[in-house]
Formats: sequence, C-alpha cells, structure tokens
Amino acid sequence: MLLEVKDIEKSFEKDVPVVQKSSFGVKDNEIFALLGPSGCGKTTTLRLISGFEQLDNGEVYLGGKLLSSTKKHVPPQKRGIGFVFQDYALFPHMSALENVAFGLTKLPKYKRNVFAEEVLCRTGMGQHKHKSPAELSGGQQQRVALARAIAPKPNLVLLDEPFSNLDAILRDSTRKEVRAILKKAGMSAILVTHDQEEALSFADRVAVMNDGRIEQIGTPEEIYYNPKTKFVAQFLGRTNIFEARVDDSDTIDTKIGHIKLKCKASGQITCSIRPEHLTIERPNGTTNGWSKGIVVAREFKGHDITYHVDCNGEKFIVHTDNRVLFNRDDEVVLKQLEPAVVLQNVN
Ligand code: ADP
Ligand code: MG
Repeated sequence: MLLEVKDIEKSFEKDVPVVQKSSFGVKDNEIFALLGPSGCGKTTTLRLISGFEQLDNGEVYLGGKLLSSTKKHVPPQKRGIGFVFQDYALFPHMSALENVAFGLTKLPKYKRNVFAEEVLCRTGMGQHKHKSPAELSGGQQQRVALARAIAPKPNLVLLDEPFSNLDAILRDSTRKEVRAILKKAGMSAILVTHDQEEALSFADRVAVMNDGRIEQIGTPEEIYYNPKTKFVAQFLGRTNIFEARVDDSDTIDTKIGHIKLKCKASGQITCSIRPEHLTIERPNGTTNGWSKGIVVAREFKGHDITYHVDCNGEKFIVHTDNRVLFNRDDEVVLKQLEPAVVLQNVN
C-alpha cells in the first residue's frame, strides 16, 4: 500500500466525533474515492491525510513512512502530497504558468517555467499559460489547479469535490480527462465526492462514509451489487428494501411473492434488490407464485424506464429497458431476475 490510514479519529468539539476510527489504504497508481453525504467527514479525512489538520488518534503512513500520529505531525509541504481544493484556490494575481511554477521549489529557477508549461500542456492549458484565473472559465481553472497539484510529482493527489463547480456536460468530459491524466502519470489519488455516479465511474475502489464512519470499501461493482448495509444500498442508487423473519432459509415471503436471497440467513433480516433486478410482465393467467401489481407511475428516461408498481399495498421500483412498455394503471406481474442481498444490521 502506498497510503495507509489506520483508525484515525478527529473531533472539533468535545464528544462530537467527525471522523471515527477510519481505516483504509490506497495502492500505487490507484484512484480511490471517499463517497458520502455532505457533512459526513470527507474533507476532514483529506485534511488529516494532507496534514492541514492534526488527528486525535490513529496513524497515517505514506510509502511506509509515518506522517501523522498523536506524537508526530509532518507539515503539509513536506508530505509529498498534492491537493486540489473544491474552489481551486489559485493565486488570483498570478498567471496560470506562475501558479504552476510556484510550487516547483525543488527545481532550479530557470527550469521551473519550462516544466510548468509542459505540465500545463498535459492538462490541455498550454495556450492559456499567460492568463490570470479571472480570465479562465471554471473548467480551465480546474485544469490549472490540477496541473499545479501534479507538477511537483507528488506521490499522492487529493481531490476535494473538484468537479462540483462545473456544469453537467463539462463535468463529464473533465472527469474522463483528469482520470486519464492521473493514470498516465502513474499517480495515486483520492477523490472526495457526494456524487455516487462520479465515484463509481472515476474510482478503482470506493469507500462509502456515513456520519464519520466508513461503512464499506470495495470496487464500484462490489459496493453497488453487494452493499453491506442499508445506508450503502440506498446511497448508491435506488433500491427495494425488504424486512423479514427467516429461519436458516434462502427465500423470504414478500408482497411480490417468494424472493430468493444470495445466501441463507436466520433471524430478523433486511434485504435489498436493485430495481434492474426486478422486471414486470403482462399477466397471462399463470403467475407462478408472483403477485400482480398496478403501475402507479412511470419515468421515461430515453434508454430506460423506471416503473413504480403497487403490489398489495406496497410500492416497488423496477428499471426496465425501453422495450418494456406499460402505462399507468396497467396490471402487471412483478418478477425477480437476481437474488436479493442480505444486509448487515448496524446499530
Ligand atoms: P464533508 O466534507 O463530508 O461535507 P466535513 O469534513 O467538511 O464534511 O465536515 C464534517 C463535520 O465537521 C461537519 O459537521 C462540519 O461542520 C464539521 N467541521 C469541519 N471542519 C470544522 C472545523 N474546522 N471546526 C469545527 N467543525 C468543523
Ligand atoms: Mg467537503
């Protein structure tokens, strides 16, 4: 592991923990995301890693070297970590080139501008090198900020909601380009975001945070298809939640019918099925144990459709492709395509 974060904790006020016993690692050349709702402690976690904040407990190691503990605190500028802030934080009185050259203190002065220009070109900003931040668009400032962060060749780049000030189309393309630049440079990065789609599409692995705690770490596919907790299941997209009591069984009785589980379970359980793991069909006499429902709402989204179906008084969400066409008030049969995930009960 390049970065190792071990049981870090931070409170600003007594007895109000903002980061609670968080542990994770980031590998060489890996893009890692910290995903969670606003206020869950993502920025504070980044600031503890970068050294802008002192931790109360735990340790941070980079390349095997201790950076932070209760006894040690390497200052931010000595950590070899680059930082892209949410508001870019460029120096307003300096040109793009000067902003990038500023941090290249390890290079002799005459080499700084040449190298800064090279990095600006890599982020597609070469032709704008003499412009000040005020003369650049949000997307362009974002690229200068990225160039400034990666120019000193840090071991790790921290990106705090770097795309949130860009409009939807620019956000998408900038995200792809930034990912490609980081991968090409062979750098490791941590992206902080509250946007699940951004985390899933940008990162190699994602840690889902809730209220100062990391609830799950995994690849985008793992956390989406095998969420461990109800929070993770619901934060990563829409889902259908079922509560049931079972005794060493891999099926449960629900309003839809007998639902199959991914594994056997016992006791009071909570399960999740993604809307695309259910489908609806026209009732044609035999329903094979599946229940009938009524379409109560439909969201047409071009490439797919979301149906809201009332089944014996309970509402379910179903995603289908755009060839499955039903209207409001149509009678349908709900069916399960993939087994349900059994969630852990966290208190
Ligand atoms: P996120 O980035 O996930 O939105 P933050 O890490 O910024 O969350 O903040 C988590 C919590 O810590 C919030 O309740 C915030 O108000 C509090 N907090 C963050 N920084 C400070 C600070 N310097 N002093 C006091 N409280 C803070
Ligand atoms: Mg934040």
